[in-house]
Amino acid sequence: MQSYPVASIDLSALKHNLSRIKELAPTSRVMSVVKANAYGHGYAQVVQALIDSDAFAVARLSEGIRLRELGIKQPIVILEGVMSSDALQLTADYSLSLVFHNLTQIELVNSIQLNTPLKFCWLMVETGMHRLGLAVDKIGEAMQLLSASSNLTDKPGLMSHFASAELTNDPRNQKQLELLKQCADKYNTPISMANSAAIISISDSHGDWIRPGLMLYGVSPFDNRTASDLGLKPVMQLKSVVIAVQELQTGDQVGYGGDWTASQYTRVGIVSIGYGDGYNRQLSDVGSVIIGHKSVPVLGRVSMDMIAIDLTDISGSSLGDEVCLWGNDMLAVEDVAQQAGTIPYELLCQISERVVREYHHG
Ligand SMILES: *Cc1c(COP(=O)(O)O)cnc(C)c1O
Repeated sequence: MQSYPVASIDLSALKHNLSRIKELAPTSRVMSVVKANAYGHGYAQVVQALIDSDAFAVARLSEGIRLRELGIKQPIVILEGVMSSDALQLTADYSLSLVFHNLTQIELVNSIQLNTPLKFCWLMVETGMHRLGLAVDKIGEAMQLLSASSNLTDKPGLMSHFASAELTNDPRNQKQLELLKQCADKYNTPISMANSAAIISISDSHGDWIRPGLMLYGVSPFDNRTASDLGLKPVMQLKSVVIAVQELQTGDQVGYGGDWTASQYTRVGIVSIGYGDGYNRQLSDVGSVIIGHKSVPVLGRVSMDMIAIDLTDISGSSLGDEVCLWGNDMLAVEDVAQQAGTIPYELLCQISERVVREYHHG
């Protein structure tokens, strides 16, 4: 039984994007970022498709444990680190790797004895984003403490994160990179800085380890360049079906609040997808979808389980017809994000559990 809505995931596109990334940064190793359920695509199948990655990164301990339980053998980095000795012990038990971003975390690791030492750890350097990280003048002390710790097998690498990598030629990017490089010169240890946008547009930021997220999923981080411009293939196509057709006369309204009023005869299709599936409510009145190779507008408010679309120009019955919400040649998730006034990252992560993920190869 085919069930809708469905997020159809192309695993060969994922593999293609990983190779494309390796082409762009041939001398770096790849830490594939699969946090937030692999940007909504589903951990289990995504990590298998990306098994040629040198390491994986997630935000939280629970995500790291999940990946280890899926049988992943590569290093798994917890980007936010941990905050308690229990969590630290679990990190060690599951052979996960940590990012240390404040002195409290470092004191914690030095205050207990772990059953197995941690490997492949990182120190987060604050270079301008002011989110996570130790100020440059604290790195010496942190490095000393961690290098002396019996709970780490080796010296940590130095990591930082761009605040605006998608703004090409923004001088703040070079400033951030400069700070990390100055730090790295002192400690002779691996560095990691580049996310997707930086992998594409700031090649001197590649360093030893790159950390691609968005581009793995075939999405462009730039407003003015499409995925295909960048040699990437979209991985997710979000689809549903028309479950009802309504014939509206002039003056009839559609949906909650009657926000949309017909100014002429209109055939309206009701599609089974809504904000309960993660279809963003900001798409009310401004979104568009693809049906029968045509782009048609979303009419009125997005409900929890349904949206209304304009079928007036679509011939035939339409009942049961497939509708593409994003991810085909005519409508990229980047376009939909623009319509919703958000970023593709959010749309992808929002896809809820109710949406069936269907996996295929090409
Ligand atoms: C999410 C994340 C990434 C991946 O960023 P993309 O823009 O999706 O490539 C890299 N590094 C850190 C620290 C992150 O939190």
